[in-house]
Amino acid sequence: MKALLLTQYKQLELADMPVPEIGPDDLLVRVKACGICGSDVHGFDGSSGRRIPPLVMGHEAAGIVAGAGANVKDLKEGDRVTFDSTVYCGRCFYCLRGEANLCDNRQVLGVSTPDFRRHGAFAEYVSVPRRIAHKLPDSLPFERAAMIEAVSVAVHATAITPVKLGDTAVVVGTGMIGLLCLQALKLAGCSRIIAVDLDDVKLKAAAGLGANVLLNPKTDDVPAAVQALSGGRGADIAMEAVGATAPVQTALASVRKGGALTLVGNITPKIEINLQSVVTRQIRVQGSCASCGEYPACIDLLASGAIQVDPLITARAPLEEGASWFNRLYSHEPNLMKVILEP
Ligand SMILES: [Zn+2]
Ligand SMILES: [Zn+2]
Repeated sequence: MKALLLTQYKQLELADMPVPEIGPDDLLVRVKACGICGSDVHGFDGSSGRRIPPLVMGHEAAGIVAGAGANVKDLKEGDRVTFDSTVYCGRCFYCLRGEANLCDNRQVLGVSTPDFRRHGAFAEYVSVPRRIAHKLPDSLPFERAAMIEAVSVAVHATAITPVKLGDTAVVVGTGMIGLLCLQALKLAGCSRIIAVDLDDVKLKAAAGLGANVLLNPKTDDVPAAVQALSGGRGADIAMEAVGATAPVQTALASVRKGGALTLVGNITPKIEINLQSVVTRQIRVQGSCASCGEYPACIDLLASGAIQVDPLITARAPLEEGASWFNRLYSHEPNLMKVILEP
C-alpha cells in the first residue's frame, strides 16, 4: 500500500509499505480521509518528541472497513467508520472508571515515542482496535467525519466545563479547536460568545460560526472589554485554545469571580499565571485532554449540522501532495486551517 512515511525529521516520502496486519480484536480500515493535525505539523521536526521516525502519522481519519478480526462481530467489510485517536487499553483503573482518555496504557494513532510506535492513517490502510471505532451514518461524508476527532476535543472540553444556560463565554484562540469550542459552548447554552484572537481572519471565521463579539488583543484591552460587556463582572466561562502565557493570562483576567477557566491548548510546557487571581477570586481551572465517550454525540452533531466543519476545511488533497501541504503548514502560510488528505 501507499503511505506517507516520515523517514527522518522534516522528510516525508510516499512509500510502499505492507498492508498492516490485524489481530483478533482489530479492524483493517481503508482510509478515505485523514486530516493533518497541528500536532503532526509541530511534531514532524522532532520538537515534540512524539513523532520519532520512521512513522506514518495521521490520527483524524475516517474510512471503510476492509477486514475484521475473528472477535469482531458487530462491524463488517464495507461499513463506514471513524475512530478515536486515543488507543486505550480498556482494562486499567482509568478505563474501568470510564476515563479512557486518561488510560495508563494510552497510545495515540500515528504517534511514536520512546515507549511505543503506532502507524497512523496517512496511508491506504490502517489497523485499529474495534473498541475505538464508531460506525458512521451514510449521510456524513468522509472529509467531515475526519473532523470528528477535533470536534470531540471541543465537545469534551465543553462537557467538563460548568456551563449554565445564558452564560457569557470567552474563547481565547480561534484556530481550529477554538472555532469548534465556540460552537460547542453555544450548543451547551452560552448565550454570548466573545472570541479573542490576534488574527483578524480567524476572528472573521469566528463571527461566521456564531461568535457575538470579536476582540483582538493587538487593539483591544480584552479583560476590560469583557467586563464592560458583562455588568463589570467578567465572563462566566473562559476557554483557552492556544496554550501560552499571554492568552492564558487574557482568559484568566476575563473570567468573573467564581467563574471557570478551561485549558485546552498546550503548545508550551510551562506558562506563568497569577496564582492569587485564581485563589482569591475562586476560579475553577480545568485541564481538558482529548475526549472521553463523546464520539457518538459528535457524529450526531456533525450529521445534523449542529456543528459546522466545512468552513474549517482549507483543502482536500491526494496523499501524493501530503509532503508539500506539510511544508506549507510548517512554514505558517497564512489562512490555512484543516488540510485533509485522501489516500
Ligand atoms: Zn489531532
Ligand atoms: Zn486503560
